[in-house]
Amino acid sequence: MSSTTALVTGANKGIGFEIAAGLGARGWSVGVGARDEARREAAVEKLRAAGVDAFGVPLDVTDDASVTAAAALLEQRGGLDVLVNNAGITGGMPQDPTTIDLDTVRTVLETNVFGVIRTTNAMLPLLRRSASPRIVNMSSSVGSLARQQADQAGPVGVAYAPSKTYLNAVTYQYVRELEGTNILINLGCPGFVATDLNGHRGHRTPEQGAAIAIRLATLPDEGPTGGYFDDAGAIPW
Ligand code: NAP
Repeated sequence: MSSTTALVTGANKGIGFEIAAGLGARGWSVGVGARDEARREAAVEKLRAAGVDAFGVPLDVTDDASVTAAAALLEQRGGLDVLVNNAGITGGMPQDPTTIDLDTVRTVLETNVFGVIRTTNAMLPLLRRSASPRIVNMSSSVGSLARQQADQAGPVGVAYAPSKTYLNAVTYQYVRELEGTNILINLGCPGFVATDLNGHRGHRTPEQGAAIAIRLATLPDEGPTGGYFDDAGAIPW
């Protein structure tokens, strides 16, 4: 029996799959949160073949009933120590503010922001019972207003990048409310990673992109909380 259980949302492919693999390689039990049954089970099988104690968690982060059922499943399995909110979408490009279809913004926020709040709140009762709970929210450096002002944060876009800025702000409110608890909450930025999200234009591998989330998921009890990090260190907000 593994002593630590993690849930990774959007773990059927890309960076999330590699986060699950990396946490599993540490001997953790890893819930593969994914909405499509066939893709979820294929990922679980692949992880198990690599020796990971993986199990499938049916999960659509935009759906209340799905998230509630996922929390019940984890409860049934004995609880949850680490939540990695990795699932994310871009909503497609371009996203110029003057021509955007508002439905695109709504759809992106529903997954990248509201999905994180929904999932986190459903899992918090379980995390509160863990000896060393961790929450990792997968952000992006494109969400950094400081980097946008320095023209270092990708193309103009009014859905995806602001969704990560919003996620950063939301994460910080969790940090404030949960101050004084043992829950460490941090934001990770994977760099520009070749995945379906960007048509595989990224220059990093999903394994490299997963490294920061794995580091934040495995922080020691005296580790930081309320940080926004990539592999090189703290990112300006
Ligand atoms: P990806 O390969 O497109 O994977 C995204 C994952 O999220 C998939 O498993 C997808 O599941 C899942 N997902 C989307 N909507 C969901 C929902 N409503 N419920 C549950 N799962 C859902 O993208 P990625 O590049 O690995 O991205 C992972 C995270 O890193 C995202 O938060 C992204 O914003 C962030 N990030 C990526 C990059 C990059 O360069 N790739 C850079 C910065 C930040 P399906 O297969 O069912 O669609």
